[in-house]
Parts: sequence; structure tokens; C-alpha cells
Amino acid sequence: MSLNRLFRLISVALLALFLAFAVALVWTEWSTYRSGANSVPALRKLRLALLAMEKVSAERGPANAAMGAAAPLAPELQVRLADARARSDAALNQLRTALETDSKLRQSWAMDKVRLVQQGLVPARANVDRVAHLAPQDRSDVLVVAAVSSMVDLMPLMVRVVSDLSNEADRADPLLRDGLSAVRAVASLREYAGQVGSRFAAPLIAHRQLTQDEVIEIGRLYGRIELLRTFIGGQLGNYSRAPEFVTALERVEKEFFDSGFQFLDFLLQIGLKSGDFGVTPSELFKFYVPSMASITDLRDLLLDDLLEQAERHNTRARNLLILVVSLTLVACLFFQLLVVLIGRRVVRPLVQATDLVSGLVDGKLEQQIPEGQHRDEIGAMMRALRVLKERMRERNSLAKEREALITQLQTSSNTDFLTGALNRRAFYTHADQQLGVAQRYGRAVSVVLFDIDHFKRINDTYGHQAGDVVLIGVSQCVAQLLRKVDVLARYGGEEFIILLPESDLAQAGAVADKLRVALEECVFDVEGDRRIKVTASFGVAALAGGEALDMLTKRADIALYRAKRLGRNRVELAGDEVEEP
Ligand code: GH3
Ligand code: MG
Ligand code: MG
Repeated sequence: MSLNRLFRLISVALLALFLAFAVALVWTEWSTYRSGANSVPALRKLRLALLAMEKVSAERGPANAAMGAAAPLAPELQVRLADARARSDAALNQLRTALETDSKLRQSWAMDKVRLVQQGLVPARANVDRVAHLAPQDRSDVLVVAAVSSMVDLMPLMVRVVSDLSNEADRADPLLRDGLSAVRAVASLREYAGQVGSRFAAPLIAHRQLTQDEVIEIGRLYGRIELLRTFIGGQLGNYSRAPEFVTALERVEKEFFDSGFQFLDFLLQIGLKSGDFGVTPSELFKFYVPSMASITDLRDLLLDDLLEQAERHNTRARNLLILVVSLTLVACLFFQLLVVLIGRRVVRPLVQATDLVSGLVDGKLEQQIPEGQHRDEIGAMMRALRVLKERMRERNSLAKEREALITQLQTSSNTDFLTGALNRRAFYTHADQQLGVAQRYGRAVSVVLFDIDHFKRINDTYGHQAGDVVLIGVSQCVAQLLRKVDVLARYGGEEFIILLPESDLAQAGAVADKLRVALEECVFDVEGDRRIKVTASFGVAALAGGEALDMLTKRADIALYRAKRLGRNRVELAGDEVEEP
């Protein structure tokens, strides 16, 4: 796989991995933020539910007082009862409106229970009113207990509403769990405290001893209250050591447990033995109810703190989300930049360098090598490649020069400097090969040796330079009449030799005669506008069997000698004789 492709694949894989990781991270933070955003509205609804529970519970105070007061009801008591009912109605309506505006809660169990409480309040209040309108002697214990119970029986529904909404807040922000259980415990304490007070209403109205069932019920409520007292103390200890919580808890201890609750204890002691409580329900209500304010104050303090915490968590989650998104974007950008940078500054130049090196290996020295733009390793490599290319170019031109020189040397060592024909040494090398081939395949080959007649005279008459011109002219005149395969060489002085492959003695003789005639007709212009004509004598010999080149030329030489002797300007064919006669 090419480096480029590998790099692209790895980049895409890394980017995909990074994006998956980033999306997971952003998604987690977004989910935390989204669910956390529900915590504040959920806490607001919880507060409304706690208030509604408190108000419905508080309505029992004036109701019990009314049932224990003389008929017709004093206007002041009537007003108090009406106010209490209006307050609980308002609180319930407010809660209901809040639940109705929330699409998730509109159809919830909590909503159903609020409706049930609102519906249940109508008969419960009717019961209270019926008893209150009776003459005191007609208010039977059964009626009073039933009226009190019909109010108390609505409370478990309210507790469930509170529980549902508290769970909602807990789901939205699990960090609020400790505070939420503290709030619920304090709200329950308020509720049980109210219920235990209500249990004294009937005996106080009837001036009778507590029944066994009432004693058991009061005992059960006492147990719960004590349990909650311990739980709240512990929970608040863990939850916060802030001074306002310590003070609020101390107030509960002092105002409720040491005062209101103590008073109930005192009534319980009396109620166990007789009905001489010495207080009316209205007096009990006036003394006992305010002592519970410390509990609701603690509850509100906790709620305020929870709201503050929820808002803080929300802000933190939002900031964290913004931070994560920004960091993800920056990291993404940075990653992209890194990929582009590595691609541009490492991978691409490397691939380019590889191509360039391959090109150089293939001898493409004309290719352009870019200048290294950066002072890094890649830049250094490009510079090194340029140097390498220059060196290769120099070496190549040196090699070419050397080759030309060698060719030149070879040519000059093989050719005769004056005529340009092969020299004697080159002739021997060449002729030896030809002879070998001819002998192996039984082919004919001949040599023609010729010597210019009376050449000395030309030198003597016209000068040595004119002699040179004649030598050159003779060489050219002969060369142009030969075949490509024939080899002409200067044998020495004014003597030339020709190798004629594929030619027997007769054919070679014919060639020699053709040359002789041609030479006879050639005119050589020399200095001083003189024209010189020459003749030459020829000796021809054909290869005989395994004869060596020396022997062949020797026989041609003998024939040439004979031609000279017989009057020159003639061709003589060599016989077998190897000794001059
Ligand atoms: P023959 O017909 O018997 O061959 O007579 P010849 O004069 O040609 O023979 P000889 O051997 O007496 O003379 C050859 C001359 O060729 C002698 C020498 O000065 C001359 N010669 C040899 N080489 C050269 C050369 O390169 N240039 C010139 N100008 N003369 C040369
Ligand atoms: Mg000679
Ligand atoms: Mg001669």
C-alpha cells in the first residue's frame, strides 16, 4: 500500500475514532445538562406540593377548634376556618396548575392524587361543618372522630404526591438526593406532628379519657416522630454543617420538641387516666400549631438550599457542556490541521522525493527538484536530492566525455591519420576475424595488395605534400568503388591492401582490374594548379584452405612484385608459390 493511501486511511480511522469519542462525551454532558435543567422546575413543584400538604394539614387546626367550640360558631373562629380552607384550596389549585402546565405530569399519578385530595376535601369539610353546627351535647364522639379522620385520611395521598415529585427532582439531579430526603423527613415530621395533635381533638371535645385505639395510634405517631427526629438530626449532620441549619434544627428542638410536643405529652398523661384535660381544642390549636412553624421553617430553609444547589449544578453543567463542546471543536480543528500539516510537510514531500529518486535512478536528470521550503529534515532531503542530481549530471557528462574520448582514441588508433583508411594493425585484427569466419564456413575471401607506380618520382617532382594529396586521392578513389563489406587499409607508404569477403580469386582479380582502370583515370589536383595522374600495380590472392593471413598477404605481395616486374599498371593473380622467384 502506498504511503499516501496508508496515511489517508489512518487519518480517516483516527478522525472517526476521535469523532465517536467526542460525540459520546458531548452527548453525556448534554444529557446531564438536559436532565439537570429539569431539577429547578421539579423542586419548585415539590415546594408547591409541600405547601399544599402543609395547608391541608393546617386546616385541621381551626376545624378541630370549630368542632370543640360552642355553637353557633364565634365569628372569629368562622373567619379562621374560612381562611385556612381558602389557603389550602389556593395551595392545591396552585399545585394543580403547576402540574397541568407540565406535559409530563399532566397525566401523572401525582395529578390524580391532587384531584382526589380536592374531591375528598368536600365531604371532609362537610363532616366538620355538620359537627360544628350541632349543639355541643349532640356532638357524638363517633361523629367527631369520623370528621377528624376524614381530614386526616387525605394526608397519605398528599404524602404520595410529595414522594412522586421528590423522585422527579431526584431523577433530574441525583446530587440532590440527601437534601431531598432531609426535606421529605422534615415534611413528614410536620405531618405526623399535626396528626398527633388532631388525635387529641375528639377526647378534648368530649372531655373523655383516650380510648385504647387512640393511645395505640398516638404511640405509633410518637414512635414515628422520634424516628424522624433522629433521622433528621443525622441527615442534617451529614448534609450541611452551615450555621443556619444548626440554628434551625435547634429551633425545632426548642420550639417543637421541648414546648409543643411536651405539651401533648402532658395531655397524653392526663388522657390515659381521665378526660379532665382543662383545655379546649381551640386553646390546644393556639398553643400547639405555632410550635410547628419551626419545622416548616427548617423545611423551607432546606428547600431554598436545594434550589440554590440545583441552580448551581445547572450552571456548572452548562459551563461544562460549553467547555466540552468548545474543546471538542478546537481539538477537531487541531486534528484536521495536524493531518493537513503532516500530509503537506511529510507525506507528500516523501512521496515526491521517492518519485524523484526513482526518476534519478532511471536517469531522468531533467526533472525539476523543488527547493526545500522549510528548514526541516524534508527541506534538507530536497537540498540533498538537488546536490545528488547535480553530481549525477556531472558524472554523466564526464562519462560521455570519456566515451567520446575512447571512441576517438579507438578510431585514431585504428585509422591512418593521412588517408583516413584503416591502418595496418586494424586491418590485421579485422581480417583475422573475417578469415576465421570464412575458414569455419568454407567461404571464399581474397586480398588485393596494390602499390602506386613510381611514387618516389611524384615526391621528387612535386614535393612531399603533393605526394600526400595523391595518397589521399588514391585512397578515396578506391574506397568509393568498394562494397560495404570490403575493407580498405593503408598497408604502408604508398601501398594499400583490400580484404574482399565472399570473393574468389577471379572475382577479386576483376575487382582489382576495375580499380586499376579507375585509378588510371583519376586526376589529382595539387598545389600550383598541377594535375597529376598515377597508375598502380596489383597483386591478388584468394584464401586457400587453412592458410594464415600472413601467408595470404605474402602471396599477394609476390603477385604484386610480379606485376611491378612485368611492367607495372597491371594485375597479377597469386599462385601457390610463397617464395619470390
Ligand atoms: P615502384 O614503381 O617500384 O613502386 O617505384 P616507387 O618509386 O613507387 O617505389 P619506392 O619504394 O622506391 O618509393 C616509394 C616512395 O614513397 C618512397 C617514399 O618517400 C614515398 N613515400 C612513402 N610514404 C610516403 C608518404 O606518406 N608521403 C609521401 N609523400 N611519400 C611517401
Ligand atoms: Mg612501395
Ligand atoms: Mg611504388
